[in-house]
Amino acid sequence: MRIVETDPKVLTLPQERLERVPAWGGASDSLSYVYRPSTIEQVQAVLQLARTNGRSVGLRGGGNSYGDAAMNAENILLDLRRMTRVLEWNPENGRIIVEPGVTIAQLWQYILEDGWWPPVVTGTMMTAIGGCAGMNVHGKNAWPVGPIGDHILAFDMMLANGDIIACSRDENSDLFHAAIGGMGMLGIFTAITLQMKRIYSGLLDVATESRPNLAAMFAYFEEHLENSDYIVGWMDAFAKGDALGRGDVHKANYLPPGVDPAPSQTMRLDKQHLPPTLFGIVPKSIIWVFMRPFMNNPGAWLINNGKYYAGKLTGPTQTRQPHAAFHFLLDYVPDWKRAYGRDGLIQYQPFIPKETAQDAFREMLQLCQKRRLPNYLTVFKRHRPDDFLLTHGLDGYSMAMDFRITKGNRSRVAQLARELDEIVLQAGGRFYFAKDSTLRPETAVAYLGQQTIDQFRALKQRCDPDKLLQTNLWRRVFG
Ligand SMILES: Cc1cc2nc3c(=O)[nH]c(=O)nc-3n(C[C@H](O)[C@H](O)[C@H](O)COP(=O)(O)OP(=O)(O)OC[C@H]3O[C@@H](n4cnc5c(N)ncnc54)[C@H](O)[C@@H]3O)c2cc1C
Repeated sequence: MRIVETDPKVLTLPQERLERVPAWGGASDSLSYVYRPSTIEQVQAVLQLARTNGRSVGLRGGGNSYGDAAMNAENILLDLRRMTRVLEWNPENGRIIVEPGVTIAQLWQYILEDGWWPPVVTGTMMTAIGGCAGMNVHGKNAWPVGPIGDHILAFDMMLANGDIIACSRDENSDLFHAAIGGMGMLGIFTAITLQMKRIYSGLLDVATESRPNLAAMFAYFEEHLENSDYIVGWMDAFAKGDALGRGDVHKANYLPPGVDPAPSQTMRLDKQHLPPTLFGIVPKSIIWVFMRPFMNNPGAWLINNGKYYAGKLTGPTQTRQPHAAFHFLLDYVPDWKRAYGRDGLIQYQPFIPKETAQDAFREMLQLCQKRRLPNYLTVFKRHRPDDFLLTHGLDGYSMAMDFRITKGNRSRVAQLARELDEIVLQAGGRFYFAKDSTLRPETAVAYLGQQTIDQFRALKQRCDPDKLLQTNLWRRVFG
């Protein structure tokens, strides 16, 4: 459903606050009363306002969750993007304290010229640190360094009653491990302390090569895991038979001290910025228009095929690439999601143990093809377990699959997701709320376990007894 109509009861809140807020993928949206505070006192005032009006409060960082994680239909949405202060930075030890609205883009640009890089970054730099902690995001280095939570040293969290508590591995440790990845349901991060990663160059050593099928993709990962700082695969989800799961792999390594003869030059911001044009001519802002005709099954087949054969023809390559160019490939084409059309896209990203992942991914790719719902963009990563309560992490692999949504296929995609869920559960897998649009309560119980959910609910009862903090995702899966 695209539109949620306003309930007349809501009219006590000012109409001028009403905004239509989309899921990042654009496949759904809802009307909310949006507040954008810039201070702690203003956040407290919004919580009070919600109480007075009998409304719930959803939190929103950069709004980059593909589905409904940062939406709160007919209620208040607290958009934290104006809380962007760096509260403390120590370039000697790489510790930084930031407000939750500081984006990954602001963060790396703030620290880079001191010789540091964020330990974990997402595929877009538009995400905010509060939102990244709320979902416990991972990067292309998920295997060696884990999710962002493993690099958060402490945070201040405002509870639903407006009080602020400090959490770390030593203080309120249960809340520390549940609020990271807790989808903003326990409290509002107001200050987050992170440990940055020391680097010795603005460049990474990047190696790329194509792999002919799924088995070869897995073999490459297992062989190169221990000697790669970053490793990620792209797959052509249209390939069949012996070529099923073919694609490219990209691995990257930091340069050790002394290798880059002029690190202060390569770490300059102007050496990192993504170029404003493609091939020096086409403004990036209009590229999505040219992608639009290809966002259908034949067009996406052509692009996936073309990309695979281009990589195969070029053969293995070794280059030095700026950090930003390697990490934020998806930001090269602003608004690329608009190419998917007015009904947008959803992403489905299961996490599967290494022992069962290959068979499960094979079955999933084949099922998508059989249902004539191939995913247009498929990304493959290796993960490790972590100790956060609602974690998606495990010793295994994830496969992120983008599905175009149209009026005609919406219910078929939902049905496909149910079939895929079964494969994931059979394989002992997990799901990721940042990417989710389709998970059902029984599936969440099946993979998280009732005990874990009860534990989370007990913490929520402690931090938010009146259930003030809610989102569409929360009501859909746990409501
Ligand atoms: C192009 C693209 C690439 C991506 N690549 C990756 C990737 O490589 N790895 C990965 O893990 N994810 C990836 N994602 C998903 C994205 O990183 C997550 O959804 C992330 O949570 C988005 O951050 P955000 O600031 O936009 O948060 P939002 O989407 O706005 O919010 C995310 C969650 O955090 C909660 N929240 C927000 N602020 C706070 C706060 N101050 N306190 C408590 N809770 C809060 C919200 O309620 C919500 O539940 C990608 C998304 C896109 C669009």
